[in-house]
Amino acid sequence: MKVYKFGGASVKDAAGVRNLLDIVKDEKELFIIVSAMGKTTNALESVFEAMQHKDEAAAMERIDASYAYHRGIIDDLMGADVTIEQVNTLFGQLRNIVRNTLYRPTEAELWYDTIVAFGELLSTTIVSNYLNGHGVKNRWVDMRRAFLTEQRHKDANVNLDATEVRLKREIADSEERIFVGQGFIGGAPDGTTTTLGREGSDYSAAVVAYVLDAESMSVWKDVDGILNADPKIFPDARKIERLNYMDTIEMAYSGAQIIHPKTIKPLQQKNIPLYVRPFGNKHAQGSVITGDVERAYEPIMIQKSNQVLLTLHSRDLSFVLEEKFAAVFATFESYRIKCNLVHNSAVDLYMSIDSSWHIAAVVSELESMGFDVECRDDVEMVTIRYYTEELYHRYAFDERIIIKQATPHSLRFVRSK
Ligand code: ASP
Ligand code: MG
Repeated sequence: MKVYKFGGASVKDAAGVRNLLDIVKDEKELFIIVSAMGKTTNALESVFEAMQHKDEAAAMERIDASYAYHRGIIDDLMGADVTIEQVNTLFGQLRNIVRNTLYRPTEAELWYDTIVAFGELLSTTIVSNYLNGHGVKNRWVDMRRAFLTEQRHKDANVNLDATEVRLKREIADSEERIFVGQGFIGGAPDGTTTTLGREGSDYSAAVVAYVLDAESMSVWKDVDGILNADPKIFPDARKIERLNYMDTIEMAYSGAQIIHPKTIKPLQQKNIPLYVRPFGNKHAQGSVITGDVERAYEPIMIQKSNQVLLTLHSRDLSFVLEEKFAAVFATFESYRIKCNLVHNSAVDLYMSIDSSWHIAAVVSELESMGFDVECRDDVEMVTIRYYTEELYHRYAFDERIIIKQATPHSLRFVRSK
């Protein structure tokens, strides 16, 4: 069994879905994981935001726009006279949820997951139908049933042992040996829908690969492979042919958009190679990630935006690390906020965290724990792994640096934008 994952950009239009068919059509045993089409997840996030603001009209308008977008792809693929019943059913369910939910802020994550999950339910329904109509007989798998996650919304981890039983059961009696399943989503023990974190479809594919002992996993992307930097930010970016798990996980964690950080662990546990391949050219080499590659490549440079820099000053001069560190992190954890960099003095704690809609609530909790809190959102975080002095001087922009950390392998800084 192989696992192929197609991201949103790869299925953003009918041409993308046709190309997907071309890539999978000769495979005999394959599990295909698909993300939501194009920017659908963002669109659904905005449906959820309208629900948060109790603005039903805006939510419906956004759902209508998403319907038109998916309908356009179906028209192009199958003709305007064809309806896919399941697609209409899904839109009906989505409208009902928005109309009938009594929204409470304490359940923000639950409703967020319930709504954004529709992106993948729709994309896989369309892809599965299209493949079935074009000689690739496949089974649509409902990953809300196949993946058991922890009871935690918006950034859930998958329970691998339970998922092994469930996923194998879902596919056991299938005559088809090609499967199409949603990335990004799963089911909680209480039966509600969970999501695995933005861009989490890579992680879904890795879990499938792990559970089914796949021979390899491939991620089909709109790039030639893995680059050592984002070319939009660092003009001398180059492709890396081979990379090891460790460097990949560090890159991903620092904010490189190549692969979701949670993807590597399940693959590494079973030594499954991960290919990153260009969607536009199925014969091209791409990049491969395995366990046994010696580090022999360029420095890696990553910039992470959407950061908020919090500076906590302990009012009663108690030592932050000794007395309050755990409580601070428990607060972040309770709001699912990721902290990317920590720096401390005796009574001050600096943290670069992912931007979140809960920042104001977090700040007020921290204040009630005895901190003065300063909060800046005009910052970004840069990581240079295997840095050189020369790169540092080229990219650091000293006058903007707020925090700088160096280890023998990597240099990280938070700077103003
Ligand atoms: N559709 C989800 C997102 O945009 C998951 C993914 O693309 O991997 O975050
Ligand atoms: Mg996506």
